[in-house]
Amino acid sequence: MKDSKNIDIQQLKSQYPLLKKLTSLEEVFWLNSNFESFQSGIEKSPVTQEDVTDAEQRLKRFAPYIAKVFPETENTNGIIESPLVKIPSMKNYLEQAYQQPISGELMLKCDSHLPISGSIKARGGIYEVLKHAEELALEHQMLTLQDDYSVMDSDRFRSFFSQYSIAVGSTGNLGLSIGIMSAKLGFNVTVHMSADAKQWKKDLLRSKNVNVIEYEADYSKAVEEGRKQANKDPKCYFVDDENSSNLFLGYAVAASRLKRQLEDLEITIDKNHPLFVYLPCGVGGGPGGVSFGLKLLFQDHVHCFFAEPTHSPCMLLGLMTGLHDQISVQDVGIDNVTDADGLAVGRPSGFVSKAIEPFLSGIYTVSDAHLYQLLKALVDTEDIRLEPSALAGMIGPIKLLCNQTDYLTKHHIIEKIDQGTHIIWDTGGSMVPEEMMNEYYRKGLK
Ligand SMILES: *Cc1c(COP(=O)(O)O)cnc(C)c1O
Repeated sequence: MKDSKNIDIQQLKSQYPLLKKLTSLEEVFWLNSNFESFQSGIEKSPVTQEDVTDAEQRLKRFAPYIAKVFPETENTNGIIESPLVKIPSMKNYLEQAYQQPISGELMLKCDSHLPISGSIKARGGIYEVLKHAEELALEHQMLTLQDDYSVMDSDRFRSFFSQYSIAVGSTGNLGLSIGIMSAKLGFNVTVHMSADAKQWKKDLLRSKNVNVIEYEADYSKAVEEGRKQANKDPKCYFVDDENSSNLFLGYAVAASRLKRQLEDLEITIDKNHPLFVYLPCGVGGGPGGVSFGLKLLFQDHVHCFFAEPTHSPCMLLGLMTGLHDQISVQDVGIDNVTDADGLAVGRPSGFVSKAIEPFLSGIYTVSDAHLYQLLKALVDTEDIRLEPSALAGMIGPIKLLCNQTDYLTKHHIIEKIDQGTHIIWDTGGSMVPEEMMNEYYRKGLK
């Protein structure tokens, strides 16, 4: 299904002039020509507000269990959520370094500091495991929807779940989330790790009794092998990052939580106060789910942009050509080699690229060297430490305000931008070992 057709690169290049820059690994900014109004886009959507609400309620049912087994979530009563903070010193740095004023407020959504697994995957990944666990427990009359789910922290439940297994393919962070959560419930869990995955993540998982299988190849291969092995075992559930509506919905729940955080800070989003969100994109589930949730709540007042490494612009390529998951970056001669390991994906999710197409404003790419510079700057200005992938959103406001005034004019926001808010979605990093973080910082010195 996902094999690339015979792709005629020369023809694509003449049809899409941006492809030339993309294949020469220049940073680019692409505006989505299929972007449409919320009302017309939502009519085609395979997922709905009801689906997101259902996911939100499921996470509430699990909250007493989460609070019990992960004490770091006690102060949020078992809800896995991250802070939203202002970053005025970083704003100042960006304005000076790029000689571009940033109109509006600049904020950071710190998914790097999500409890349990320290990345955006603590949303979708954990949600999908919980949903599967709930289904099994309901089906076997171990549980009713009215129960206090903290009963799952028991030998009875762990021994029940130990008859089942869960598998996933990952570049690292999804594996951490699925692995930690599944092992805690008592499942047998196997994580198929691509070559990009960091050693400390594999070590951490093994210390929690997770089976880790390593591959020399990239993410797509790890997923493919994982899927193949899981399919052989009827009691094995495969978390399919390339095609999962569950992951997508787990991510989408972020939106209503963000809305409350904005309200608490007395930040208004409406016709006269636009919201801009910049999200790092790998296979697409994380940024796609979050954006979808935000569109449901803020409709045409929110503008979502994805950020990808220059070496892995898979979503941009899939959407620009309309080929979605039928094309990979390797097909056009791009290597998918980047230090932004969370984004090292050569082929986008077919489900996400189609679901998000009407709602996504655009995608830009950013080089690894640039990510390291931003990483260092954020440490220097705000004392916040992130992994390279998580910085991809940081340059978004500069790129938008500097070069994309056409977009702002077309959508009648140029005159309101001073009253707008830019949110950089920071997707991971709080669990990175200190010496590794110091190495990242040093790379930013160059
Ligand atoms: C996975 C990941 C992303 C992107 O999420 P996708 O669902 O793969 O698009 C971004 N940043 C980090 C740190 C990640 O681990």
